[in-house]
Amino acid sequence: MFGETATKMRAAAVAAAAVLLTSTASLAQQAGETNAAAARIEKFKALASEGVDARRKLAQVMNDTVFSFGELAYQEFETSKYLTGVLEKNGFTIERGVAGIPTAWVAKWGSGHPVIALGSDIDCLPKASQKPGVAYHEPLVEGAPGHGEGHNSGQAVNIVAALAVKELMEREKLPGTLMIWPGVAEELLGAKAYFVRAGMFRDVDAVLFTHVGDTFQTTWGQPQGTGLISVEYTFEGESSHAAARPWRGRNALRAVELMNIGWDFRREQLRPEQRSHYVITNGGDQPNVIPPLASVWYFFRELDFENIKRNYEIGNRIAEAAAMMTDTKVTRKVVGEAAPRHFNKPIAEAVQANIDRVGIPRWTDDEQTFAKAVQRLVDGPEIGLNTKPKPLEPPPAQAISGGSDDIGDVSWVAPTITLNYPSNIPNLPGHNWSNAIAMATPIAHKGVVAGSKVVAMTVIDLLERPELVKDAKTYFTDVQLKNNKVLPLLSDTDQPQVGINRGTMERFRPEMRNYYYDAAKYDTYLDQLGVKFPTLAKTPAP
Ligand SMILES: [Zn+2]
Repeated sequence: MFGETATKMRAAAVAAAAVLLTSTASLAQQAGETNAAAARIEKFKALASEGVDARRKLAQVMNDTVFSFGELAYQEFETSKYLTGVLEKNGFTIERGVAGIPTAWVAKWGSGHPVIALGSDIDCLPKASQKPGVAYHEPLVEGAPGHGEGHNSGQAVNIVAALAVKELMEREKLPGTLMIWPGVAEELLGAKAYFVRAGMFRDVDAVLFTHVGDTFQTTWGQPQGTGLISVEYTFEGESSHAAARPWRGRNALRAVELMNIGWDFRREQLRPEQRSHYVITNGGDQPNVIPPLASVWYFFRELDFENIKRNYEIGNRIAEAAAMMTDTKVTRKVVGEAAPRHFNKPIAEAVQANIDRVGIPRWTDDEQTFAKAVQRLVDGPEIGLNTKPKPLEPPPAQAISGGSDDIGDVSWVAPTITLNYPSNIPNLPGHNWSNAIAMATPIAHKGVVAGSKVVAMTVIDLLERPELVKDAKTYFTDVQLKNNKVLPLLSDTDQPQVGINRGTMERFRPEMRNYYYDAAKYDTYLDQLGVKFPTLAKTPAP
C-alpha cells in the first residue's frame, strides 16, 4: 500500500481508533470508572483477543468435529463426550447427566462471583446430512441427520472464549466462576426448562448464550418470536376387522382426525399472532385393522405465557371432545417447552460495544463467491456474506410472532442475552440441508473466532465491572420481572423425553461413523472429505 490511498486509510484508521477510544472512555466515565480501571479492562480485552487467536486451530477442530457427529436431539452422546473431554483436559470440573438428561452436563472452573454461564445448542436436524464446502445438495449419508442449523459451532465459540479468559484469570488472580453448558435437544425445545427446574442457574449472575447467525448481533427485551408448548396426544380405542366387524372397533385415528379438524376450525377464533402445527406420529398399522392407537403431536406457539397456556387448554379440550366423539381415551405427554424470551439490556449494550470492536471477519473473494453460489442454489437473494454487524435496536413496540428458542426459560431466572455470530450464509431457508453447507468451511471458522472474541471480552466486562453485573440484576428484577407475568408451563410431573430419536440415531450411526472427523490425520474436515473450497459445481461423472 503506497502513496495517497495509504495515507488516507491510515488517517481513517486513526480516526476510527479515536472514536472507539472516546466511546470506550465515555462509557467508562458513565460507569464511574477511573482511567486506570478502564485501561486495565482495555489491556485484558486485548490479551483475551490474542488468547482467542492463539486457539484458532482448536476452534476449527471443535467446530468440524461436532459437525461430523451430526447428532439428533437427546442423542448428543459423542458430542458431549468430546466437549466435556476438552473441558476436563483444561481443568474444568464436569457434572454429567444433569436434570435427568443423559447427554446434559455442566462444566465449571474458578470460584466465587460473578458466575458467568456460557451456553450454546449442540443438536442437529433430521435428514439434513450435507457435504460441506460444495454449492450443491449432496448428503454425506443419504437420509441421515445433519447440522442444518449450525449448532456444531456454538460450543467452539464458548469454549475457546472461556479458555482464553481462564488463562488471564489465572495469571491475574481474578475471582469469578466460568460455567459452560450445552443446549441439549434445542430442536425439540427439550432441555432448558428442565435445566431451570433442576436449579442449574440458581447462582448465576449472567448468561451469555451464543447461536449461529449470518451477521453479528444481539438484542434486548422481547425479540421477534414466540414461546411454545409441544404436546403429543395419544388416543386409545379398540381394534377390529375393518371389513368384517368394523362396528366392534373404536377408531383412534378418527379421534386424531377429529381433533385436527376441531383445531383447524378453531384457528379463526385465535389471535393472529399464534402459530400452531401438528404431525401425526402414529396413524395406525394397516388399513384392514381399525387403529386401536393413534397419536398427534402439536406445537402451540404464542407471544406470552398467558396466551400459550390458553391455547394449550383449548387444545386439551378439543382432544377430550374428539375422544368423546369416538369413544376413545386420550392421554397427553409434554414433549418440550419454550418460554417467550426476554434479554437483558445492560449486558446487550456491553456485548454490542464488543461486537462493534471486533467487527465482521474480512471475507475473501472465494468465500463471497461461494456464498452467492449457495444463495443461487436455494433461490435466495444473492447478496453474499454480510460485511457489517447489526446495530443494537430497541425491541419492537408490538411483539412480533415467529419461531421459538428455549433459552427463553433461562432468560426468566438469570440476566441473559443471545449473541448471534457470523458463521453462516444469509437468505437460506433454515432447518434445511443448505444451512449446513458453510458450517465446516472457513466461513464458519472465521465467524466462530470473531464470536469467541466478543464472548471473551464480555466476560471481562462482567469480571472487571461490578456495576455492569449490578445494572444487569436491576434491569432483571425492576424492569423485566416487574413488567411481565411469568407462568409455569411445565407441570411437576412432566419429564424430558430422552428416548426420542434413539432409533433414528441407531439406524444411521454406523454409516455416519465413517465420516467422523479425524483431526490427528487431516488439517480440516474439508481435507478429509477431499473437498476443494469452494467447489461451485458438481464435476460430471467421467
Ligand atoms: Zn438453533
